[in-house]
Parts: sequence; structure tokens; C-alpha cells
Amino acid sequence: MSAERRVRVAGALTALLLSIAAVPADAHNPTPAPYGRSWSITEVSAGSTYDWDASVPAWLKPYVQDVLQTQWASSTTNNSKHVVFRQQAGGSATVYFTNSTGVAACNNLPGWLGCASGAGSTAWKIWLRRSPGQPWCQLNLVSGCWDVERIGIHETGHIGGFLDHMDTSESDTVMTPVPANRPESGWSTHHLQRCDEARMQILYDVASLAGGYANCFDHIPGHGPTGLYSVVSAAAPLTADCYGAGLTLTGRLSVKTDSNYGALSGNSLPSRTVFLDRRPMGSAAWMIDYASVATDGGSSTNWSRTFSVSGSSGVTTYEFRAHFKGESGLDADYSPVVGLTWSNPC
Ligand SMILES: [Zn+2]
Ligand SMILES: [Zn+2]
Repeated sequence: MSAERRVRVAGALTALLLSIAAVPADAHNPTPAPYGRSWSITEVSAGSTYDWDASVPAWLKPYVQDVLQTQWASSTTNNSKHVVFRQQAGGSATVYFTNSTGVAACNNLPGWLGCASGAGSTAWKIWLRRSPGQPWCQLNLVSGCWDVERIGIHETGHIGGFLDHMDTSESDTVMTPVPANRPESGWSTHHLQRCDEARMQILYDVASLAGGYANCFDHIPGHGPTGLYSVVSAAAPLTADCYGAGLTLTGRLSVKTDSNYGALSGNSLPSRTVFLDRRPMGSAAWMIDYASVATDGGSSTNWSRTFSVSGSSGVTTYEFRAHFKGESGLDADYSPVVGLTWSNPC
């Protein structure tokens, strides 16, 4: 089950093109499905060591190392927690470079470029093909060559992210069963794409709560128009006081709690802006964006804003609501309405 193959033969290519043509019009944001088990939090923390099989030549090592250690872990292209790979003599996992037709994981198919097995084990294995039909671009940069790092990041997606194949655009995923070659779009992609990141985030959480969410959640059950639903709450411990006194609204901006959202369910959303709308009690018209406040790292509440109204007599009540405008991968939300009252006598 964990074995997979990479073929580029006429039959497979025809089937791929046909399957793309059959995709419905709304299917623009697929997310590679996980397969088998995924790394536990303990395993992610422990990391994964690997070593070279004797078949790996010196020229290849820096490229594989770049994929496994730099591209895979790049926080600028992937805000997901992920297992950290370290090359180490005697490491548990192994990288091979071979033409062997006896590699069961490669299904002995004539067109394979790379394959992987052992997903779910620290003793994973990646094979890269010694002599593909067209040369490796790192050795001979000609039209039709294969970028060994593009093949490497795909195999790393299997063993490091437990990502399955996904037939879609090269700009969405590196998990296409047939990769691009030079000069096709995506031929030199070395890092995970947005839909790979989306699945990684659901499986392992975001690396930084303040960082971005992948813009590829439209195949996740319970998704919203843009991505995952957000929830902004608002409450006031004290809702009435004298004119001139401060009354404080406080709340939490978070990802909606939904088991479909996996590790992202209920995440706090710090370093965002919550806007406050205000209207006089009894008025239908809101003053939109009357105030705003940045969310912080608090876990139970992550924003608060104090308001006051001056006056000399009588009663003044304003209604407030908080809203988050949404961002890439996250939908907007409005809080319930909260009324605050100032008066004299109070
Ligand atoms: Zn594959
Ligand atoms: Zn879709």
C-alpha cells in the first residue's frame, strides 16, 4: 500500500489528460489525501535520521539534502509542523540511487524516476533512478530533463507528510503521479505547494499560530466559501457604568472547532485584526469599523478593547459587534451583538 510508482509512458499520460478533462469545474482546490498512518507529535519532535546507501554518488547528495532538510522545512513556503530530517551516519532511513528492477516499491515499471516505501516508519526508504529516460537536469540541462529535487520533494511528501497522489495542477501540489519535466510548468519546483501544505496543516498543525493558512481547504468537509471557518466571540464582564468610565469588550478570534479541521480545530488566531462596529441602541445602521484591535497570544481570550462615552445625564446605550474580515484560507466571521450602557446617575 505504501509502495508507489512513477511512470511516464504513453498510456499513463493519456489517462492523466483524460482524468483532468473529467474534473468538475469547481474542483480547483484539491487537497492530497493522507494514507496509512501519520507521524505522531512525539515522532515529529524526535525527528528522523537518514543515511546514504553506497549507491548514492557525491553529486546527488547536496540536492537530496537540500530537499529533505532545507526545502521541506522552509517556513517561507510551508507553515506546517513537520518531522525534521537529519542526515547522519547510521541513520534509520536510507536513500538509494539505482537502476535495479528488483525494487518492489517501484513496481519494476520501465518509466519510474523515484519511489518510496516505509511511510509510517523511521526506517523509510527513497529510491532515485540512476539513469532515467531523459537526463537529470542537474547533470545535463536539456529540454525534457528531470529535476532530481522535484522528484525528491514528491517522495519526501510520501514518507514525510503521508501525502497521497493527487492529479491536479503543478501549482497546487507536488504529489501529481506524473511530474513535469523541463520546460513544462512546475518542472523545477523544489518545495511543497499550497494543497500539500493544507493537508500537512490538518495532520500536524501550523508551525506558527501567527503565520498563514494554506489556501486549499475546499475539499475539506465543513469548509466555508474561502477556506476554514473562523469564529470571533465578544463579551463584556461589566456592561454598565457611569459616563466617562471605561467598559471593556473582550473575545477570542479562532479557527472554528470542527473535527474535520484536524489539528487546526479551535486554533487561536493571534496577530490578526479584529474590527468593532458600533450603533446607538435602536438604530439599524452600524458604524462599520468604528475601532480595531490586534489579536495577541492569549489562549482563552486574545483581544480586548475599552470604550467610554461622556455625558451629563440620562442613559446612553451602544451596541457593538466584532468582526474578522478573513484572509487567505480563512473565512470572515461576526460576533454576537453586545450592548454597553453609560448613565448618570449610575
Ligand atoms: Zn508518488
Ligand atoms: Zn475544489
